[in-house]
Amino acid sequence: MAPKVWLNGELVERDRAVITVFDHGLLYGDGVFEGIRSYNGRVFRLEKHVRRLFDSANGIRLEIPLTPQAVGDAVVGTLQANGMKDAYIRVVVTRGEGTLGLDPNRCPKPNMFIITDKIVLYPQELYENGLEIITASTMRNHPNAVNPRLKSLNYLNNILAKIEAIDAGTLEAVMLNHLGYVAECTGDNIFIVRDGRLFTPPIAAGILEGITRDEILDIARAARLEVREENLTRQDLYVADECFLTGTAAEVVPVVRIDKRTIGSGKPGPVTKRLAEEFHRRTRG
Ligand code: PMP
Repeated sequence: MAPKVWLNGELVERDRAVITVFDHGLLYGDGVFEGIRSYNGRVFRLEKHVRRLFDSANGIRLEIPLTPQAVGDAVVGTLQANGMKDAYIRVVVTRGEGTLGLDPNRCPKPNMFIITDKIVLYPQELYENGLEIITASTMRNHPNAVNPRLKSLNYLNNILAKIEAIDAGTLEAVMLNHLGYVAECTGDNIFIVRDGRLFTPPIAAGILEGITRDEILDIARAARLEVREENLTRQDLYVADECFLTGTAAEVVPVVRIDKRTIGSGKPGPVTKRLAEEFHRRTRG
């Protein structure tokens, strides 16, 4: 039986989990969300995800109708009710039902739902052999427009870059920011290794502060690896010894080709493997 969906405080069957066409989440992309994973019945970094959800909501002046504790409890409760141990969890809060026209004050009550499901972003083969990506011509949203730190329901920026990736016969694209520096991929943060040091763009480059990114930075520091959050150019990616992407759904994915340039040996590198192994241990161990 399909897992039930938590919708505004109730567990409902999947085909009854519906929202009105007058919801501003649908009409205008007005809302926020989180993507979370549970491993063996434990939700990974739940507090961080809940906090980011509230930070995103705060950024768009949306008041979540529950306390952070109650949101966390609802996530865990939904998983338990569905008897799911290894799941991908999507928490969404929309502005709610309103009138046509942008005014969010015409939406008296947010809609909130929690989906517990499975997600497979990339075939297993790519985790072993590495992924090919391109640079998208679509630039990442300017931080003074919708700041990429907000995990909003407005993913068109990322979707346009994803279309470019697919058109080029690849699965993912890296986006540059308004200054031409590397920002992030359509649903993942990006890292490179050069001369034994780990580099990733800073939050100020206009990226989502990824929870997997944080975890990798923590793992790297604990392993006494030199870590730098620095602006990177496209050329920095091309000449990297290793490259990998991080995200809740994707976890840690090695990248071996960017814009037809082979990265390092053309195979997932030793630092990437070590970090991925430790990440695997922290999530499943
Ligand atoms: N960047 C973007 C644009 C994302 O949507 C995501 C999440 N899918 C990430 C980075 C990775 O963030 P996290 O590790 O918190 O999932």
